This record gives sequence, C-alpha cells and structure tokens, in this order.
Amino acid sequence: MEPTDAPALSDDALARALPAPRRLVVVSNRLPFVARPAGRGWAFERTVGGLVTGIESFVRSGKGPPEVVWVGWPGRAVPASRAASLRSEARARHGLVPVLLPSEVAEGYYDGLCNRALWPLLHSEPTAVHLEEPWWDAYRTANEAFRDAVLGELRDGDLVWVHDFHLMTLPALLREVRPDVALAWFLHVPFPAYEILRVLPDAWTRALLEGVLGADVVGLHTHDYARHFLRAVRRVLGADAAAGRLDVAGRPVRVDAFPLGVDFARHDEAAQRPEVVAERARLQAAFGDARVVLSVDRLDPTKGILQRLAAYERLLERRPDLHGRVVLALVGVPSREDVDAYRRLRARVEETVGRVNGRFGRFGWVPVHAQMRAVGPDELAALYLVADVALVTPLRDGMNLVAKEFLATRHDGEGVLVLSDTAGAARELGEALLVNPYHPAGVADALERALGTAPEARRAASEPMRERLRRYDAARWGSEQVEAVAAVRQEGRRLEARFATTADLSAIVARSSAARRRVLLLDYDGTLVPLVESPRAAAPDAALRGLLRGLAAVPDTTVVVVSGRDATTLSTWLGDLPVELVAEHGAQRRPVGGAWTDLASRDTAWHASVRPVLDVFADRLPGALVEAKTFGLAWHHRAADPELGPLRARELVETLEGLRLPPHLRVARGRDLVEVRPAAVTKAAALPALDDPTGTFLLAVGDDATDEDLFAALPPQGLAIRVGTADSRAALHVRDVGDVRRLLARLVAAGAAEGVP
Ligand code: UDP
Repeated sequence: MEPTDAPALSDDALARALPAPRRLVVVSNRLPFVARPAGRGWAFERTVGGLVTGIESFVRSGKGPPEVVWVGWPGRAVPASRAASLRSEARARHGLVPVLLPSEVAEGYYDGLCNRALWPLLHSEPTAVHLEEPWWDAYRTANEAFRDAVLGELRDGDLVWVHDFHLMTLPALLREVRPDVALAWFLHVPFPAYEILRVLPDAWTRALLEGVLGADVVGLHTHDYARHFLRAVRRVLGADAAAGRLDVAGRPVRVDAFPLGVDFARHDEAAQRPEVVAERARLQAAFGDARVVLSVDRLDPTKGILQRLAAYERLLERRPDLHGRVVLALVGVPSREDVDAYRRLRARVEETVGRVNGRFGRFGWVPVHAQMRAVGPDELAALYLVADVALVTPLRDGMNLVAKEFLATRHDGEGVLVLSDTAGAARELGEALLVNPYHPAGVADALERALGTAPEARRAASEPMRERLRRYDAARWGSEQVEAVAAVRQEGRRLEARFATTADLSAIVARSSAARRRVLLLDYDGTLVPLVESPRAAAPDAALRGLLRGLAAVPDTTVVVVSGRDATTLSTWLGDLPVELVAEHGAQRRPVGGAWTDLASRDTAWHASVRPVLDVFADRLPGALVEAKTFGLAWHHRAADPELGPLRARELVETLEGLRLPPHLRVARGRDLVEVRPAAVTKAAALPALDDPTGTFLLAVGDDATDEDLFAALPPQGLAIRVGTADSRAALHVRDVGDVRRLLARLVAAGAAEGVP
C-alpha cells in the first residue's frame, strides 16, 4: 500500500508532546502491606507473592517514574469510623491509597469471582470453576470502586499501571472517563487456551477482554500467553492483530510478552549479607550433612505441593541409600485461608508431611522439614544457598519467581533447578531439568538426576540462565512496559493526526459549497453502512436513504454509489433513489433511473472452471459461501470461523494462482472475501468524464483496498477519504461509518442552506 499523504508529526514533535511520566500509579487488588488494627492506629505487615516482589523490585531500581503511589484493597472490611485513620496512615507511611470495599462486594468479587472462577480458569482448571451471577456483579462494582479511587488520585503526567486478573474491566472504565490516560495492564497469571476460556459466559469474557483493551499496553509473561490472549480477542471480539498491535476503535493497543524478572544484583550479593551468613550457618547446622531439596510456595492448589510430596516419597521408596542423606525443606505460606479449598490443602499437606516422616523417618533424620509460614528475605536467601536442588513444580504458574530467585542467589552456579514445564519461567530457563509436575515418577527421575549432577555440569547449566536473568531483570520488565506505553501513545497520536479534524471537515464543506458542480463517489459496505456478518443483512436504513436523497437534491450534484455488489442487489436497495450506481467494482454502471450498461466484457465462460474450486473451499468451511455475480465470482468467509476463514482464503488464493487462469482475470483478496474478476474491472471506472474539472468538487470515500483503485485514479483536485486507520493514498481518514454520515449530512445542510450556485 502507498504511504499516506496525511500530515504526520515528526518524532521530535511527538517526543515533546509526550514527556516521560512523572508518577507511577500502581493499581493492584492487594496492597503490598496488610493493614491490621493496632490500638488506635494500624500495623502494616508485608504481603508475600510474585506480584509484590516484581513491582517493588522495579520501583526500587529507580528506572521508573520518580514518584510512586499504590492503589489497592487492604484485604479486609474497614469500619467507616476507622476509614479516615487508615487512609491517612497508609498514605503517610507507605504511599498507599486503600480502596475500601463493603464486605458483601469484597466477598463476591474476591472470594467469589476472582478466587473461585478466574483463578482456576486462568490456571486451566475448568473443573474447579464456579460461576455465580452475583459474583460477576460484585466484580464490576469492585472495579468501579477502583476506578473512582484512581480517578481521585490521577494527575496529568501519571502513568497508570493496572495489575492482574482482579482488575480486567478497570482499564476500559478509566479510558471511558479519561480517554487520554497513559495506561498499562499486566497479567501475573497464565492466559489459557481459548478452549478453556469458553467455560466463562460469553458476555463476561467479552467484558473482560474489552476491559483489558482499554489499556495502551497489555503485558503477559510469555509469548504463549500473549498468543492465547490475541486468539481470544480474535474469536470473541473479531479483532485481528498485526504484529501484536490491535486497532481498538482507531486507538492502537500493543499486546506483548514482558517476562517478569528478579532484582538480580540484590540476590546475587545476598550471600555476603551478614544476616544471611548467620542464617545460613544455622540452617546448615540443622540439616547436617544431608543434601537439601528446597520447596517454597504459597499454599495454593496450583502449586502442585501434594504431587511434589508424592514425587519425593517415590524417590525415598526407590533409593533407600538416600535415607538419612537427603531432606526436603518445605516452606508453605498460608494463602487465601478463607477459601475452603485452600484450608483443605493446608491440612492435606500437613497430613502428608506427617505420613512421609512417619513412614521413612528415624531418630536423627527427618525426611521432610516443613514450615507453614512465610520466611523473610534473609532466611529465604539462606535457604536458597543451602539447597542443592530447588524443586519448583507448580501444576501451572504464570511465571514463578522462586525459580529465578534461587538461580540468582546461587552466585556459585551450583544450584540445580527442577522446574515444571508448565511454569512461565520454563520458557526462559530451558537449561533447568524440566518436568511434568503431574507425573511423580518423572519428577522423581529428575530429582535423582539433580542429586547426581556433578558440580561442573551444574555450573554449565546454571550460567546461561543466570546471564539471562541478569540481563532481563525486574527493572527491565518494568521499564520496557513504560517505554511501550510511550511508543504506543506516540503511534496513537500519529494515527490520530490522520483523522480529519473539525477544521478539515469544515474546509471540505466550504469547498463543496464554493464549487460549481459536485461529484460524490461513495463506497457502500463499510463506508455508508457498517460491515455485517451476512452480506444480505446490509440493506440501507431509512436515515441513509434520506441522506442520499438529500445529497442528490443539492443542485448540480452527482452522487455515485460504487460497490462491489451485484447490479440486482444495488437496484433493489437503491434503484429508486436519484443516485448513479456502479456494480461489481466497476463492471456495470446505471445512470439515475436508467438501465445498466456493461463496462467490461461479459464473458463468463471461465466461471465453469473456477466455480468448482470455490465450491470445494466453501464446502470445507462452514459459514463460507460462493456468490456468482454477473462478471466475477466471490467467495465470502465473513460468517465463518474467524481463524480458519483467513487461512482458507490464503489457501484458496494460492490454489487459484496455481490454476493459471486466463490473463484477463485477476484474483483479489478483499475484506473477508476472495474474488475472481476481469482484470480490467476496477472502481476507477466509476469516475465520470468531467467537463469542468477545475470547477468540480470531487470526493471519493471508501474503506478497503478496492477503493484505493478509485483514489489512485482521481485527478489532482479530487479528494479521497478513507474510513479507518489502514495505510492509504487518501489524504484524510475518518473513524467510521458514523463520521462519513455526519460529513454527508453537513454537505446536505450546506447545500440546502447556502443554495449553492
Ligand atoms: N516469598 C517470600 N517468603 C516466603 C515465600 C515466598 O518472601 O516465605 C516470596 C518469594 O521470594 C517470591 C514470591 O514470594 O518473590 C513468590 O512469587 P512466585 O512468583 O514464585 O509465586 P506467587 O506467590 O506469585 O504465585
């Protein structure tokens, strides 16, 4: 496609227009601290989890905006009488803005939709998903409460960074009120395959996806998740991405992978911190000479803790020689204890640990050392340092920072990592011993190998992974998203500059009024009426018919509807109006009230050989259909599967090209169709002979590639307008059918009011 003639701002001008954000407004469900009433005031206790670790590492790196506020739910109901004190203490002590939710909203939103529907769904556990209507209502209400809290906080120059699946509808809610807000959304959990997503009611899925697309940048941990997300968007919203870029009503949105990293330097140096040294000595004394296998996670069903214990048990069954020489150090951090499944899990883990210790343990050797509470960063670093093997086997995990922290802390390169292939981290840590976490025997095999790996081999595997973690750390994860938002917003401004301004539109109306004659060449589908699934459902509405009549009634004005549709359809829909019609992309023309004349040769002998090919492709794709026009043959796939349609269309084009059709035919790929028609036929044929080119106002409006033929044929004084943001030779763009109709209405009004000459 030709480059646009539209005025474009230089990059310098754009950079000036968009200064770096001054403040980062982090928005997440939970704050990095849990607030507990303490006397008359509040005590703040750190929360544990990858989300908090990641964001704090980025903020600490100083690579982001200089100022940070964090908006989130304090995780508990706060009586109205204490709300003010919580607000002021949270703000003063930690820069936190609590969002207070009434307990019935919090219950439906957090315990209900987030923990019992979205969490298992996104972790590909559809059988654990519960769907309750009131939960969905509560989710929406909670997201609205977050919106209000963010709006109350928002200043010019802020970058809003929304986190995770709790707040999927928030980006669009914010965009609605503040169309120009700089906004990123990041998902900390996996995004599942479409087949899994279908478990949610369509309307919810739609609202969640549309909600997320309110952001400028949609970030996920891995390319697989990004692909799944884009596929869901295509299937549910029908929107197609090119190179990870979506067009959301004229606004670009970038969907990409930003794998969360760790604060590498801090972990790498941990072994030198005196607190860590002391803790390490204590642990070494406790574990003695035994080899240490480490397991650290929140007590969450997705972490695969029971399966991991089963694998360890399998190892002890197989290898009596290891009895007394190996221990499993298990840290289980209590999580979501108000949810039944989580409470039950904790009980089962404790019971299993007891059983394994009872079965294999003896005086002087405890096979599993378990601690069911969170450990602080120094103790965790010491655990990483004394461990020979980190056994990180979640059933499914968005990323998993424990795996990365372990490698980063092991500056000696001697830590062996056994990692689930189903954790996001596995995409970057390919040198680890990757396992299927559901298969205890396989995990036990990997454990045996891990315990038997020689130091050189450990270092050889670890070094490239450590190097990757050093390069792509938490700072880079955050700053790449900040930069991506700036780039997308620049792109948005560039596209925005393509759209006709009010002044441009007024100038067009003035030029039309000043001209002696007017010729308006208007494409039909996508220009005068919105695109719809069935080609037959696009009949003109009364408003459009009125508009076309009004235009034609402006003195000395010719209105031509230039369509790819066949003559019969155009006659039926528009034949009674005082407009000229051009059918089949320029193959036939009909003057106002007159008869159709052919502009191309009516030789359709070739249909007999081409039609069967199109029929076969239509038979293979439910929803596809073949339309025999007077000249051309069209194969439509708009109503077919949105992924298979374009694929089959490409195959069809290849097949047709392989047929060596007669040279006077051309195969054209249109919007959701493939068409074979005489090569000489193009919409340029719609251009009438002009007796007074300079005194004529000539306007062509269209929305797809076939209209570009007409745009290219316009004489210099002609003006082309393209609907949408696609690259075009048109000098101006408008957003949609509504914009086209508004412009036409202004031309009618000007014609009527000014009584054009
Ligand atoms: N963590 C901690 N104390 C603990 C256990 C874990 O501080 O007792 C931290 C750990 O260092 C890591 C995070 O919690 O940064 C866990 O992140 P991960 O991505 O592994 O899992 P998530 O909890 O986010 O599912």
